[in-house]
Amino acid sequence: MEREKDQILYLVIPCYNEQEVLPETSKRLLEKMTSLIDRGMISRESKIMFVNDGSKDRTWEMIEKLHDSNPIYLGVKLSRNRGHQNALLGGLMTAKEYADMVISMDADLQDDIDVVDQFVEKYYEGCEIVYGVRSARDTDTFFKKYTAEGFYKIINMMGGEVIPNHADYRLMSRRALEELENYKEVNLFLRGIVPMIGFKTDVVTYERHKRFAGESKYPLKKMLALAVDGITSLSIKPIRFIVFLGMLIFVCSIAMLIYSLVQHFLGNTSIGWTSLIVSIWAIGGLQLLAIGVIGEYIGKIYLETKERPKYIIERVLR
Ligand code: UDP
Ligand code: MG
Repeated sequence: MEREKDQILYLVIPCYNEQEVLPETSKRLLEKMTSLIDRGMISRESKIMFVNDGSKDRTWEMIEKLHDSNPIYLGVKLSRNRGHQNALLGGLMTAKEYADMVISMDADLQDDIDVVDQFVEKYYEGCEIVYGVRSARDTDTFFKKYTAEGFYKIINMMGGEVIPNHADYRLMSRRALEELENYKEVNLFLRGIVPMIGFKTDVVTYERHKRFAGESKYPLKKMLALAVDGITSLSIKPIRFIVFLGMLIFVCSIAMLIYSLVQHFLGNTSIGWTSLIVSIWAIGGLQLLAIGVIGEYIGKIYLETKERPKYIIERVLR
């Protein structure tokens, strides 16, 4: 199914303390949008939407100024910091009301914005979702590269269907966004949920650059939280693993029982102290681990039952 050209594109950019990058980012995005509009690839109604995720610096003032200077810039202000995934979702759901297609990207433009053209072309070819996939991880630190690759491996092993090396740089049609809205869970891991939507999709590869200004807003702590959320919100395999482990240990303990009975009748019992103390510690540790994993899920159930809003929009500039 080919689509008619000249449709409305919204760029959605979550921003948390991004005052260092906003001037350059807004300039480059404006150039990109103008060129797309001039070539007749997108409608003149297309917009660049910044979502301020409760920044503590001058980010929101800068967005307001941009909006005053040129109506192509829109601003959405969350009432407080809710984290990248929620800020992004808030932007996507707001943009969905006006746009035919929405592209999400980071404020630091680490993701090559020249592939936006390909995103839009694929959309016109009928794709509902187009994933941006990075070709290499040369610009990442050694640590980030391996932790990220390990994360994608683990999550796929656990039965999650994530696109490897795809972060949240993607195009979604209004149709796909409407379906996304039906996923009501609070622990929303977009990279895991979006592939569940289905429809015709495609992938565009690009090279990722270094951040040109400012610092990463994803410290190790937030990255780990995202990874744990990602895995536990997509899969219950960790629980199955614990059950399996429990069965294995039960079988081992029967073997131990037979062994110790035999030793007892042979009259060697006093030397069993070491194995005894080791098993007490091993089983104690495993139990704690199991309780921890189960607790993680109970925590999730607890949050889901509250059905809290994922974000609250304070104001929309348009
Ligand atoms: N971000 C956000 N809220 C947060 C943390 C980050 O909206 O609490 C935004 C940030 O402004 C940026 C994007 O998420 O647009 C990705 O963050 P960053 O570039 O720092 O992550 P990295 O590229 O280092 O993984
Ligand atoms: Mg970045």
